[in-house]
Amino acid sequence: MDLNSNNILPSPCYVCEEELLENNLKLLKKVQEEANIKILLALKGFAMFSTFELCKKYLKGCCASGLNEAILAKEEFGLEVHTYSPAFKPNEFEKIVEISNHIVFNSFNQFELYKDKTNSNNSIGIRVNPEVSTVDVDLYNPCGTYSRLGTTISNFPTSLPDIIKGLHFHALCEQNIDALELVLEKFEKNFSKYFSQLQWLNFGGGHHITRDDYDVEKLITVLKNFKSKYPHLTIYMEPGEAVGWQTGYLEATVLDIVHNGMDIAILDTSAECHMPDTLAMPYKAQIRDAAEPFEKAYTYRLGGNTCLAGDIIGDYSFDKKLEVGDKIILEDMIHYTMVKTTTFNGINLPSIAIKKPDGSFKIIRNYDYQSYKDRLS
Ligand SMILES: *Cc1c(COP(=O)(O)O)cnc(C)c1O
Repeated sequence: MDLNSNNILPSPCYVCEEELLENNLKLLKKVQEEANIKILLALKGFAMFSTFELCKKYLKGCCASGLNEAILAKEEFGLEVHTYSPAFKPNEFEKIVEISNHIVFNSFNQFELYKDKTNSNNSIGIRVNPEVSTVDVDLYNPCGTYSRLGTTISNFPTSLPDIIKGLHFHALCEQNIDALELVLEKFEKNFSKYFSQLQWLNFGGGHHITRDDYDVEKLITVLKNFKSKYPHLTIYMEPGEAVGWQTGYLEATVLDIVHNGMDIAILDTSAECHMPDTLAMPYKAQIRDAAEPFEKAYTYRLGGNTCLAGDIIGDYSFDKKLEVGDKIILEDMIHYTMVKTTTFNGINLPSIAIKKPDGSFKIIRNYDYQSYKDRLS
């Protein structure tokens, strides 16, 4: 359905702004071209496939974390499909072999278990744990203590089986080039002895390339320097968040205002169901035209429409009193949101819309009772 900007979108609704997405893609393409590397979209962070026609004009393919993401990559994106999973499942592996250009194993056990089922169309890699990380939040630290993600150098053989053509690491989360430099230094020190037999390296995701303060020129320099030492290796990066970063918002509506020691607005959205990183990271979303509590005249706690007591988006202040029916615009709600939503408590999933560069809106998807029921039995 097409709407012009005067019409009201369904509520709640994720609105991806195509122009902002394309700006991110252009920047990633610049890195790709100037550093002579390949960039994949990590579906874990952003899988809004109605935008893939646009994304595939700029990026080289997708990285998938298992069968469903791999199929989505193949069906909706095309180009290269790189599949890594902490552990592959026997009943899914045949299909993964059929559709994946790269298959990355998390351990040598998995490699041994599945290597004979791969074929010459699959380029095989191992995910390493470089054992260096500057990620503060344990939930998002792939190299934290006892991490199951990737193989440490002490679990590597002295020489690699011939069919292994690449090494992969993923060690960052929302980080700048300084963090990548630290990881690269350790990675190179421990693993460069294997590079001569390889064809590619994959530096994973967590690179916040499209954030304002990311040092893109430095990234290009670091990548070029690395490549100049190992010109035979193709370098991949696979950001998710950096693709969807600040490319749109979640629009919600105030359903009621209650009072219990403070003013509390109940919205038709939910931190738990629609923006789970609010509770998991945790972090506080930016809200358009709102400020920290008491900075503006009217302060409210914004709560979700579930019965979970902690389903709280945060406390904010506004210039005007909130009224039932008012719209609340939660910024930067495109990455790691619609890929993680749930219908917990029977809350409907938000609709999904695209804002076109000319200001018009296209509603891509609405959800209803059936989406809730489909997940239960
Ligand atoms: C999560 C993940 C990514 C993407 O990370 P972002 O932080 O969204 O850039 C890439 N590769 C792997 C293996 C991941 O687990």
